[in-house]
Amino acid sequence: MTNKHGSANPNKIKKFSIQTNMKNKTSNIDTLIQTKISNGSHSKKDIKYIVDSYTRGNISNKKMTAWLKAVYFNGMDLDETINYTNAIINSGKKIQFNNLNGFAIDKHSTGGVGDKVSIILGPILAACGCYVPMIVGRALGHTGGTLDKLESIPNYNGLLSINKFKNIVNKIGISIIGQTDEICPADKKIYNLRSKTDTIASFPLICGSIMGKKIAEGIKGLVLDIKAGNGAFMQTKKEALDLGSFLKKIGERYGIEVQFAITDMNQPLGNYSGLLCEIIESMETLKGNGPKDLLEVIYYLGDISLKMTGINDTKTKINEVISNGSAYEVLCKMIHAHGGLIEEIQLIPRETDYIRSEKDGYIVSINTQELGKAINELSIEKQGDNIVTDSQAGLELLKKNGSYVKKNDIIAHIFSSNRNKLTVAKKRIEKTFIIKDKKINANKIIIY
Ligand code: URA
Repeated sequence: MTNKHGSANPNKIKKFSIQTNMKNKTSNIDTLIQTKISNGSHSKKDIKYIVDSYTRGNISNKKMTAWLKAVYFNGMDLDETINYTNAIINSGKKIQFNNLNGFAIDKHSTGGVGDKVSIILGPILAACGCYVPMIVGRALGHTGGTLDKLESIPNYNGLLSINKFKNIVNKIGISIIGQTDEICPADKKIYNLRSKTDTIASFPLICGSIMGKKIAEGIKGLVLDIKAGNGAFMQTKKEALDLGSFLKKIGERYGIEVQFAITDMNQPLGNYSGLLCEIIESMETLKGNGPKDLLEVIYYLGDISLKMTGINDTKTKINEVISNGSAYEVLCKMIHAHGGLIEEIQLIPRETDYIRSEKDGYIVSINTQELGKAINELSIEKQGDNIVTDSQAGLELLKKNGSYVKKNDIIAHIFSSNRNKLTVAKKRIEKTFIIKDKKINANKIIIY
């Protein structure tokens, strides 16, 4: 049997120990859960059965959670992961772009806090002549979701039909939607369940989810931003490298050119984390007013992406589309094509508060995962299958790792439409900043 790639935490793999091989038994979810608990392998047919039956409502959330947990702890090998990815793609339609007058490319992140890179880099690539059909997800665990951020724009429709999606890509160069009943419906449902059941940081589940969407989009090239650090699903560079190589292998099986970078997620990226505030920061970045760390990631991933399409002087090209306003114009046109009302984008939260330093010293670390959870709780409420969002909720980070602060200095500005929620979030966020006497150097943003 080939190597397993299960949880990012190898200690968790030991929890299940019964050794049986039920590979050839007929598909039945109880048997398949036991197979995976016993570290056995699934056939192509078994995996298709699990994914299709769950998507159609023929496997309960409880049983699917048991299977996801078994995969989370015991992993799936490369063949099983490819079969899982295939089942996700085949749960819906696969898009094909014929006669495009440019390279179809996408960028996807494994998830972080304040990570708005897709909303900025997508329009930059489109302004450089690429086509960017981008399928994204909602908030996953403590990380933010590109779809939730875009839907915080009044009237933005992120669940378009494939036809409309393709038309916008053809016309404007980019469209960003979420998984729908038409495209990757299995990922839509499983992603949601993984988010609620703490079964996110698993190589095969991440691979199926990301590569399922990316292959279904009909792209030729993909640039992955693997986040590493205390606000990412991969905590270390080693785990991130392993995940990147695994994702690349899957992409290549489908004939997609995949490159990956590893970037730091030990603190939120940019200055804002939340919903509408991240859209505004993205728009400002495209107008030439982006924060340094965010720009560093944009230029780095932009370089890898544009080189894939044959453009070599990438910095000049990116500078050009930002300074001549064409990348900003692409974003506005895309928002407009999705029904979004740009003129109504306004950050006017009813309730605001501050996070202040409890003493003099240097910020030596930020518990980014906890910070992300607090921001998600402030901005997104899941009521059954419905999601209620507070587009005005979020955080502005005024001091980052390595900054010196005096007692009572403002570290962050937090905002919401709901005072009670803001009070709860404040208590939680205050504890995420570790301040010490000795200065540390903040991590490099580009790790690989
Ligand atoms: N992004 C995805 O689309 N899926 C994952 O599982 C993780 C990040």
